Amino acid sequence: MTAGPLRVAIIGAGPSGFYAADHLLKQDRQVEVDLFDRLPTPYGLVRGGVAPDHPKIKSVTRVYEKVAAHPAFRFFGNVTAGRDVSADELRRHYHAVVWSVGAESDRTLDIPGEDLPGSHTATEFVGWYNGHPDFQNRRFDLTHEAAVVVGVGNVAMDVTRILASDPDDLAKTDITASALAALRASKVRTIHLLGRRGPAQAAFTNPELKELGELPLADVVVRPEDLELDPATVAALAASPDREAEKNLKTLRGFLERGVEGRPRRIELRFLTSPLRIEGDGRVERVIVGANRLEAGPRGVQAVATGAETSLPAGLVFRSVGYRALPVSGVPFDERRAVIPNRLGRVLAAAEGAEVPGFYVAGWIKRGPSGIIGTNKPDAVETVGSLLEDADAGALVEPAVTDRGAILALLEARGVEVVRWGDWQALDAHECAAGAVRGAPREKITDTGEMLAVIRRARQGT
Ligand code: NAP
Repeated sequence: MTAGPLRVAIIGAGPSGFYAADHLLKQDRQVEVDLFDRLPTPYGLVRGGVAPDHPKIKSVTRVYEKVAAHPAFRFFGNVTAGRDVSADELRRHYHAVVWSVGAESDRTLDIPGEDLPGSHTATEFVGWYNGHPDFQNRRFDLTHEAAVVVGVGNVAMDVTRILASDPDDLAKTDITASALAALRASKVRTIHLLGRRGPAQAAFTNPELKELGELPLADVVVRPEDLELDPATVAALAASPDREAEKNLKTLRGFLERGVEGRPRRIELRFLTSPLRIEGDGRVERVIVGANRLEAGPRGVQAVATGAETSLPAGLVFRSVGYRALPVSGVPFDERRAVIPNRLGRVLAAAEGAEVPGFYVAGWIKRGPSGIIGTNKPDAVETVGSLLEDADAGALVEPAVTDRGAILALLEARGVEVVRWGDWQALDAHECAAGAVRGAPREKITDTGEMLAVIRRARQGT
């Protein structure tokens, strides 16, 4: 047990950070939680990643608001751990630190032309249309007729859907005003969606696939040959039935039966297709793709190149092949798996190494970039379980600094303008009022300086 209240810092105010805070504050013991975020705004990917046309998924923030209302909860936004306050300093102020910083970068394709102008990561596009301050200077040239989206996960579905949506429908969402204007002027009419394996191995979930078929302006084109299952897939499905894959195959067959109805945009699904090279004179003009066949491999059904190549003319490429976490200064990192090495959420000095006392990890930086928002709840509960077990076992070091106000004083002395929960509530109200003008749930402020200006005005009551 600890002498006074158990004091925990959580770094990263996305879903896993909030679920960790929630579980800690529900304990039948005195716990104080400080939740830090490098942005002035909370909610991580719920604000900056979840598609604007998925408001139901975003409504999970109501749960997080309840967590924030707990008297032992404090929010410290606009604070970058590892820069404004070091990992070692956090140790001096808290019994435990939970790192829940997510995965802020992307996997690469490692093919020629990947970095040509016009080739972007899905993350950049998603961050841009969702108003994430890091991505507002990105420009996407939507004057081209064709775009290629690489990967068939749910992020690829989001990107495809946003490109193919009716802008009048997007206007009713919290998509940023600048993204909406750009999408209204978009000339993109064909979106090629590339899956390197077959439809039975696609990473998207069925509701997201079905949504493509519900877009009023877009036909979904499926190649009949892609739906003929190969022997490796048939054997794999027989050995381990996969409900989601069956549902996806049924939906795709439905798209094929419906056929092309002459809508102004086309989503062309191409399975068994890998991008080999992105080519063009100073910018993306085409993607050379290779055909694959499937065979059973050590990690399941895998794609093998047949050698056949095709050129897909396109002016834009969105690489949507998964996120990748970045290391945090002062915290161990497993470069190979791109996670903080851990055992049941206890940070390890290296993969299979010794435990680092007082450091814990939750969410994508713990398990990798997979799962839906709700997946983070059991993940965070497991981590907090380990933390509480260690507290009970007397394995946590008493913080050197016992004054709860000292961390704020330290940050303020360094000139860090800490954003508190009340500040965020003022910003939230401002954004919602601004959104109401166009009939949208909110109009996000996309610049950190502007966010702070709104907060300062609210503090002064002006
Ligand atoms: P993901 O689900 O891991 O999908 C990545 C896709 O990229 C897979 O189709 C993968 O194919 C493909 N890929 C990887 N490397 C490739 C390569 N070198 N060449 C071609 N294709 C490659 O990742 P994500 O879409 O970024 O999503 C991340 C997580 O967020 C997922 O768990 C997702 O479900 C979740 N999410 C959920 C929602 C929602 O619930 N609506 C929305 C967005 C994201 P292979 O399978 O062959 O590796």
